[in-house]
Amino acid sequence: MRMPIMTAEQYEDSLRRLNLVVYMFGERVKDVVDNPIIRPSMNAVARTYELAQRPEHEDIMAATSHITGKKINRFTHIHQSTNDLVKKSKMGRLLGRETGCCFQRCVGMDALNALSIVTFNIDAKYGTGYYKRFLRYLEYVQENDLTCDGAMTDPKGDRRLPPHQQPDPDQFLHVVEERKDGIVVRGAKAHQTGALNSHEIIIMPTISMREEDRDYAISFALPSDSQGIIYIMGRQSCDTRKLEGGSMDQGNIMFGGHEALVVLDNVFVPWDRVFMYKEYDFVGQLVETFASYHRQSYSCKVGVGDVLIGAAQTAAEYNGTERASHIRDKIIEMNQLNETLYCGCIACASEGHKEPSGTYSVNTLLANVHKQNVTRFPYEISRLAQDIAGGLMVTMPSEKDFRSPEAGKWLEKYFKANPDVPTEDRMRILRLIENITLGTAAVGYLTESMHGAGSPQAQRIMISRRVNLQQKQIAAKKLCGIK
Ligand SMILES: Cc1cc2nc3c(=O)[nH]c(=O)nc-3n(C[C@H](O)[C@H](O)[C@H](O)COP(=O)(O)OP(=O)(O)OC[C@H]3O[C@@H](n4cnc5c(N)ncnc54)[C@H](O)[C@@H]3O)c2cc1C
Ligand code: SF4
Repeated sequence: MRMPIMTAEQYEDSLRRLNLVVYMFGERVKDVVDNPIIRPSMNAVARTYELAQRPEHEDIMAATSHITGKKINRFTHIHQSTNDLVKKSKMGRLLGRETGCCFQRCVGMDALNALSIVTFNIDAKYGTGYYKRFLRYLEYVQENDLTCDGAMTDPKGDRRLPPHQQPDPDQFLHVVEERKDGIVVRGAKAHQTGALNSHEIIIMPTISMREEDRDYAISFALPSDSQGIIYIMGRQSCDTRKLEGGSMDQGNIMFGGHEALVVLDNVFVPWDRVFMYKEYDFVGQLVETFASYHRQSYSCKVGVGDVLIGAAQTAAEYNGTERASHIRDKIIEMNQLNETLYCGCIACASEGHKEPSGTYSVNTLLANVHKQNVTRFPYEISRLAQDIAGGLMVTMPSEKDFRSPEAGKWLEKYFKANPDVPTEDRMRILRLIENITLGTAAVGYLTESMHGAGSPQAQRIMISRRVNLQQKQIAAKKLCGIK
């Protein structure tokens, strides 16, 4: 039986065959795969393919397809048990630790799983045929081991107004024409993680909707290079360091993430790729299900946290401070925060449940509590890492100065700390801490921790809805004799 798992090389080749329309710094990007700003993000996704081939990671990185029985990459799998969900959390930590950044492929996995639940539920109510259609699409994704961009967030225009009241109707993606063979859509999706490294784009609505918004209540999938799709690459702090040559100033010399604005300018979608069409009463369920899965996916932050803690400990050793009691205590604090995050993503997975379609979903309350912690703890872990690192992390001259015969000798002399450690190694570890807490990787480790999968208030609303307050009151009243 052919194993539908691609190697990292096959993945790279498959991206070369795409014909994406990409703009960056005001120009069309011709060679997307080899562009030095984009390339590290491709390397990070390639790692999701590479690790699935390694026997020592197979249990976590691969799964058995419930539709074909074949071994597939877990990123294309529909969770069949709480054990699958736990492995998904472990996969996120593993890859975060391997790459030290966002490896991008989870949004598509979460979109597939959410659609496997919601298409089934829409059919149950309306007698539509979305679930069968979805399974055919899923098989195509699994057989070709595709990376999918999970595209939920619309630009949203004036946040006070629902889609149909926006002065510009395209602020939320919507259908503009219905044809015999499909639909034509217009709009955009903002902040799209890994968009340029994806074979497919899976579109979902952003917010719960009412009948007036039915033209906006659509979900579908398209090849990423479909006619009319335009990508405008988001920039990250320190991104142009990747153009400078050298290998120190980037901090993480191998991997990175990226986001893009994805414009859909009158794009045709054939019916066999439409998974929701105007069933506005199911939009809330799709948003909530996707968001819960993605909040669980933030086990990736635990893996990046592992890297940051390792970097902070190394910086302490290179600075000669590792034995100081307050440094040791700060490292303990970083670990305690990071492992608390791990507890959250394991807990919401092991407390998962089976949906009517057979897909296992996470515990919504615990997934939201986990994500709420994610909006805070990486900031605190970063603060402690910067404390331990010292100010040199942000005042250090460039690699070119370090290599220059005139300036280099002074840097070598005055930035030496622990005599057993080459000055260059000290510079490198400080650059990595800079990268994760202030540079390109801070997009994923910090701001995405805040807003990705919904800003903090979105989780607080879900926590207030899901928590059983009455049960707690009954317990309290019983113990003190209130009838
Ligand atoms: C790095 C990164 C990667 C991302 N990747 C993806 C991705 O791959 N796919 C995807 O679909 N999305 C992605 N997102 C989008 C993410 O889900 C959104 O950023 C998030 O939902 C917040 O939306 P926003 O950025 O438009 O912020 P805003 O909606 O502008 O929110 C800013 C603040 O305003 C508040 N606010 C907003 N609206 C209201 C309102 N009506 N009433 C009261 N307060 C309000 C919010 O609570 C928040 O505090 C990503 C985001 C980031 C930062
Ligand atoms: S931020 Fe984390 S969960 Fe989201 S796509 Fe990147 S690696 Fe995956």
